[in-house]
Amino acid sequence: MSEAMLTLQDLEVHFPTKGGVVRAVDGVSLSLRQGEILGLVGESGSGKSTVGKAALRLIDPTGGQVLIDGTDITTARLRDLKPVRTKAQLIFQDPHSSMNPRMTIKRIVGEPLIIHTAIRGAELDQTVARLLERVGLPAQFLHRFPHELSGGQKQRVAIARALAVDPDLLILDEPTSALDVSVQAQILEFLKELHAERPRMTSLFISHNLAVVRFLCHRVAVMYLGKIVEEGPVAQVFSNPQHPYTKALLSAVPLPEATRGAGRIQLEGDLPSPVDRAQGCAFHPRCPVARKGLCDTKAPPRVDTGETWARCHLIGETP
Ligand code: SF4
Repeated sequence: MSEAMLTLQDLEVHFPTKGGVVRAVDGVSLSLRQGEILGLVGESGSGKSTVGKAALRLIDPTGGQVLIDGTDITTARLRDLKPVRTKAQLIFQDPHSSMNPRMTIKRIVGEPLIIHTAIRGAELDQTVARLLERVGLPAQFLHRFPHELSGGQKQRVAIARALAVDPDLLILDEPTSALDVSVQAQILEFLKELHAERPRMTSLFISHNLAVVRFLCHRVAVMYLGKIVEEGPVAQVFSNPQHPYTKALLSAVPLPEATRGAGRIQLEGDLPSPVDRAQGCAFHPRCPVARKGLCDTKAPPRVDTGETWARCHLIGETP
């Protein structure tokens, strides 16, 4: 692992609404080194999918910078993004909605090759068949339509389509959450193998499932209301979480190392609207250890704790 394949610097994505400004992403900085898999976790509505879309300019950032393999794409014109888009591919949660139901699998997987390469005719058919084989699907699937495939088979097709242009960066947005547990395990194993085969390939893996992140990722970043609140190597964060929000998320997952002996930490209420962000620490209305007069007035600083860091006033003090 060496140079950064994806860098987000103070990324902001704000949406003006009638009720105010939704700060979906509010100053997110992340750096993914070549070959790394970084898990981005948080509750639904935390802004993690918006980070994934803004990283590929599917949504324009309001502020900050996005660099892919050293190229600043933040303000690049759409036509100048084409070379970057061959390097970076997005895989969605619901493969079905990202496929044209009237296209055969051959056309769906072959389309990026037609757009980005000169491969045509018999060579195109062979390349698509090889891609299908790589994701564990037989060549007969070439002539099928999406509705003839199961959820797991469709997600394999989506991965084959993403791999068609030999990307260096994958952004996977909840790629297994719509699948049965057994199919989920197969796809995760496959993604792990793929990374072992392609040491340069880098992935941003967006998920609310901490067990999946623990299985697949090298590092994890925890997001709450548009901000990263804790980040570090998976082994450290899972065995010794620092932020009360990370502790609460981990306490709800049956993992051997997660908050051992601490019991389940029940968070009060739902994730608040990003329009009505609380003063001080945005997590304080739900935080079980919030300190009055501090957490509700002052934004917490970033505190480094070895290889990990977290934003909390009480790092080192919380049990
Ligand atoms: Fe909880 Fe205060 Fe830490 Fe925020 S800063 S997570 S409210 S203890």
